[in-house]
Amino acid sequence: NSTVEWRPFNKTRVYMSDLESALHYSLRVELSGHISISGDDLTALKKYIHVLAKYFPGRPSVKSALKTLDNWLQLQTGAEIRYSDFRDVLDNTVQTSDAVLPEGVQWVGCQGSQERYRGYPCAVWTLFHVLTVQAKETGSSDPQEVLQAMRGYVSSFFGCRPCATHFESMAQESMDHVTSLSSAVLWLWIRHNRVNNRLAGDLSEDPHFPKIQWPSPELCPSCHGVKRTGEHQWNQEEVQIFLQNYFSSARILTDYLQ
Ligand code: FAD
Repeated sequence: NSTVEWRPFNKTRVYMSDLESALHYSLRVELSGHISISGDDLTALKKYIHVLAKYFPGRPSVKSALKTLDNWLQLQTGAEIRYSDFRDVLDNTVQTSDAVLPEGVQWVGCQGSQERYRGYPCAVWTLFHVLTVQAKETGSSDPQEVLQAMRGYVSSFFGCRPCATHFESMAQESMDHVTSLSSAVLWLWIRHNRVNNRLAGDLSEDPHFPKIQWPSPELCPSCHGVKRTGEHQWNQEEVQIFLQNYFSSARILTDYLQ
C-alpha cells in the first residue's frame, strides 16, 4: 500500500521540514552513491556546501552542521575525497558539538498523494528558491553564486539524470546573463515554470498537485495581468515581491520538525 499518513499543511507556506528533509536526502542518500568524489564533482560539492553554509536559513544546530562540513571541505586540498569521510564529518563522529542534521525525511508541503509523487524533487526546487531569496535578503556580493552552485550540484549529483540534462541546457542558454540578485530569483522562477509547462499532464504529475504556471491567481492576484490583445501577462515586479515574501526565511513554518 503506497498511501501514507497525511499531514495537514498550508499550501501558501514553506516548511522547514521539507528543507531539512531535502538536505538529509541530498547529503546522506544521493551523495552516498559516490564512493569517492573528485574533479568537477568535487568542485561542485564544495560550492554547494559553501552556499548551504552561507544561506541555509535553518536551526542553529543544522547551520552549525553545514558550517562544519564547509570548513572541512575547504581544507581538503587533495584530488579526491571519500564519501565515508564526508559522512563522518556530517554525522559528527567526534561528538564534541551540537551540530546535527536530523536523520530521515518528513515531507509536509512536498507530500504527495502517493509515495511515488513529489517529495525530494519538490523539496529541491523549494530549497533552491529559498537560497536565491536568502542571497538577496542578505545582500550577497555575487548574483551568480547560488545559481552556479545549484547548477553544479544538479549536473554532478541530482539522481534524475534527464532532469539534470534539461536543467543544464537551460543554464547554458541564459544563466550567465544573470547580473543581479533580483534577476537570479526571477531566473529560477521562470525556468521552474518552463519545467512545469513541459511536465503538465505527464505521468509523473500528482493528480492532487497539477503542474500550473505558478503562482496561481488565487495565491498572487496582483502577479497576473492582461495585455491589450487579451493575452495573459506576468507583472514581474509583483512576482518579485511575491517570491521574496513567499520564500523569505521569516515566513518558513517549523511544524512537524523532528
Ligand atoms: P515542483 O515542480 O516540484 O514544485 C515544488 C513547489 O514549488 C510547488 O508545490 C510550488 O509551491 C512551488 N513552485 C511551483 N512552480 C514554481 C515556480 N515557477 N517558481 C517558484 N516556486 C514554484 N521532472 C521531470 O519529469 N523532467 C524534468 O526534466 C525535470 N527537471 C527537473 C529539474 C530540477 C532542477 C528539479 C529540482 C526537478 C526536476 N523535475 C523534472 C522534477 C519536477 O520538476 C517536480 O519537482 C516533480 O514532478 C514534483 O512536482 P511537484 O508537483 O511537487 O512540484
